[in-house]
Amino acid sequence: MSCTLSPETIKQVTEFHGHWCPGLAIGLRAAEWALREMGRSGDEEIVTVVETDMCGVDAIQALVGCTFGKGNLIHLDYGKNAFTFHRRRDGKAARLVASSCLFGESRQELGRLMAKQKQQVLNPEEQQRLADLRAEISHQTMSAPFEELFTIKAAGPLPAKARIMNSLTCEECGEGTMESRTRRFQEKTLCIPCFADRERRL
Ligand SMILES: [Zn+2]
Ligand SMILES: [Zn+2]
Repeated sequence: MSCTLSPETIKQVTEFHGHWCPGLAIGLRAAEWALREMGRSGDEEIVTVVETDMCGVDAIQALVGCTFGKGNLIHLDYGKNAFTFHRRRDGKAARLVASSCLFGESRQELGRLMAKQKQQVLNPEEQQRLADLRAEISHQTMSAPFEELFTIKAAGPLPAKARIMNSLTCEECGEGTMESRTRRFQEKTLCIPCFADRERRL
């Protein structure tokens, strides 16, 4: 079955994200599943672990109610379109992994064009082709049955809740820094950028 989110909801999420794109579409489909199977997170009822920091995460934040600020959105920098949802109440959990072979040829072509776009060497026809491909892949993502888009796998353990808020002052820049993010360097307590700076100068 194609996406069951209302056009109004999709519009709101697109406005939140800033543009309509294939990444947002895959995030919407993951969020759609989470809303149906897990419900929306009031306070911190749902915890989502995302393995990408790309467009799709915005759909999770807008719809599922998991945000960095609340601490129930956790980013693992694995570069995968994978989303794990945990429900605290009963421990229900699942990891959704986007199919790697999705829209194979179009996706490869999209990748090539986006690389060229980065180098700013797209001619007008290629620009048009890129826009068409993005629209096409987004549309296919929204109309494909869920099972074609994702594989559901077992979730890893629920990440620990503890976020230690104790703050220390960096002895180099004088800025308050969460204790767990400070480093020791030659008997001094430093924040991460100051520590990196000192290391560079060694
Ligand atoms: Zn996007
Ligand atoms: Zn510092």
